[in-house]
Amino acid sequence: MKPELRHYGIVFIMKVSQVRQKYLAFFKARGHTVVPTAPIVPGNDPTTLFTSSGMQPLIPYLLGKDHPGGTRITDVQLSFRAGDIEEVGNNRHTTFFEMLGNWSLGDYFKQEQLPWFFEFLTSKEEGLELDPSKLYVTVFAGDKDTGMAADMEAVEIWQRLFKEKGIDAAFAEMDTEEAGYERGMKDHERIFSYGARKNWWSRSGVPSNMPAGEPGGPDSEVFYDFGLPHDEKWGEHCHPNCDCGRFVEIGNSVFMQFLKNADGTFSELPKKNVDFGGGLERLTAATRNDADIFLIDVFDSARSVLEKKTSTIYGTDSGVTRSFRIILDHIRAATFMLAEGILPSNTEAGYVLRRLIRRAIREADRLGSKDAVLPDVAAGFGAAYAEQYPHVQAAAEKIRSELAKEEEQFRKTLIQGLREFEKLQKNGKITGEDAFVLFSTYGFPFELTAERASELNISIDEVDFLEAMKKHQDTSRAGGAQRFAGGLADHSEQTVRYHTTHHILLKALQMVLGSLVKQRGSNITAERLRIDFTSPAKMTDEQKKQVEEIVNDVVYQDLPVIRTVMPRDEAEQLGAQMEFGVKYPDMVSVYSVGPKEATDDDPKIPHAFSLEFCGGPHVSNTSEIHEGGKKFNIQKEEAVAAGIRRIKAVIE
Ligand SMILES: [Zn+2]
Ligand SMILES: [Zn+2]
Repeated sequence: MKPELRHYGIVFIMKVSQVRQKYLAFFKARGHTVVPTAPIVPGNDPTTLFTSSGMQPLIPYLLGKDHPGGTRITDVQLSFRAGDIEEVGNNRHTTFFEMLGNWSLGDYFKQEQLPWFFEFLTSKEEGLELDPSKLYVTVFAGDKDTGMAADMEAVEIWQRLFKEKGIDAAFAEMDTEEAGYERGMKDHERIFSYGARKNWWSRSGVPSNMPAGEPGGPDSEVFYDFGLPHDEKWGEHCHPNCDCGRFVEIGNSVFMQFLKNADGTFSELPKKNVDFGGGLERLTAATRNDADIFLIDVFDSARSVLEKKTSTIYGTDSGVTRSFRIILDHIRAATFMLAEGILPSNTEAGYVLRRLIRRAIREADRLGSKDAVLPDVAAGFGAAYAEQYPHVQAAAEKIRSELAKEEEQFRKTLIQGLREFEKLQKNGKITGEDAFVLFSTYGFPFELTAERASELNISIDEVDFLEAMKKHQDTSRAGGAQRFAGGLADHSEQTVRYHTTHHILLKALQMVLGSLVKQRGSNITAERLRIDFTSPAKMTDEQKKQVEEIVNDVVYQDLPVIRTVMPRDEAEQLGAQMEFGVKYPDMVSVYSVGPKEATDDDPKIPHAFSLEFCGGPHVSNTSEIHEGGKKFNIQKEEAVAAGIRRIKAVIE
């Protein structure tokens, strides 16, 4: 046993730094050039706000540009996913993480990649020495829409690899997650195929969404079985893609194998690429055989600072544990952003940074802290990463003072908001309008208004608040809040037509550019509509044409548009589109477009074309949009900020 490995039962616990070093050494020994991480906030890239995967900085090379490091590249990339902020709190989700990556740029392919990764996971000498009987894999099941075949080559490779370890790995077709929950896993099954939604990669999503000339291909994921009991709230049976937390994805090999032709068929690429990405934190958790990634060594120091400062203990109570996880994740991310010179502000990356810090303060308060704790928590991270990322330690003073400043400022906001609340509640109630004023004028979060109201046993109408928020245009004082209003205060008929078209357009953009497209702003007048949305690249003419066709097709189907008030959880489960950065109340208003048979009493929401959280108003049927033979037309598509595109469109 190597001296740096602590013995823990029968498994070897590794530190994050050991897993990182072993991975880079493994691929270096196989001819790869080790390249440094790109920044989390890539200031020179106008198409994106954050680096969200190891692949992102490599895209030009995957598309054919020569890499100075050659055709075999490996790295560890600092990554941040703003879309995951609300998911943090369970044992495995973080917004910030390090992603291990190795790439073949027209060099090796499946027959090398899958055996190498398996060897890295299981090898005692060069790898993590994970128990192979805890590993489960998924492969591409094929795609009926485009006639793509299942990836049986990957199935054969995996069967051979498991057999070499004395494991009989049976193959099972799942196709969809729903089928997985229904069917479950039978004895000896270890290799599972899922459809394009799960096991296909392209920049535009599933094969049928890909424009001509776009590369894509199947992928193969490896899951670690942490052995937790399955939770039936997710579905009847457990399977690798189950969300209960038993299986955690620890690596994904993407095989860029095909090119889409103009006639919709696919041909094999002459130069095929491999793109592998694996979460460093999750792999480290697997070496501990403990599903809670917040127990890996890089969190140790920050966690004990927090325990001391708040007199609470991590893991003693589910609410406390959740607060710890949010603070640890958010402050780790904030520490790395501040180290890169990003400052809290009301725009772009600075706005996300501010949101992370403020959420962490709220959670620290929940734990009972009354004075500043964040600077000390952050110091714990500087120390934990000093060796690999010395720039973080070097910026320690600046990180400390910026966090202290932001915390002080936010606390002032909270005190002022609370004072205002006490004045308003003298009438014995808080109206939606009051809550809106607290939020828009004093920056006082709605959740705090609701919390205080319930302490005082005062009623508060959440739907009212939502509607007040939608109604008001003058909300620009609260950072980024102007997007709540859009053009919605103007209820002229033409504006209302544009508003409904706006919903249809968002859905059409997701169909053409992929489901990762999210609305980031909107503005509607009687003359035109404008939408800002996340997307890494400029739209092609072909994509613009496809979007126009989808919108016009939906509009001319004369579909009913229906408003429903329902619990927020239910709306989320139905996939309703939310606005970025908005905290919604427990009861929400949603608008659905279609299907044809939908009525107010039976809106048939699961079959709707589009579903959004929205206060309205809207047309009651899309036939009102095309009156007089009008057509939807995109006038302009342009970049407005890093990673944010803007479309201006008219109906004429
Ligand atoms: Zn499960
Ligand atoms: Zn709307």
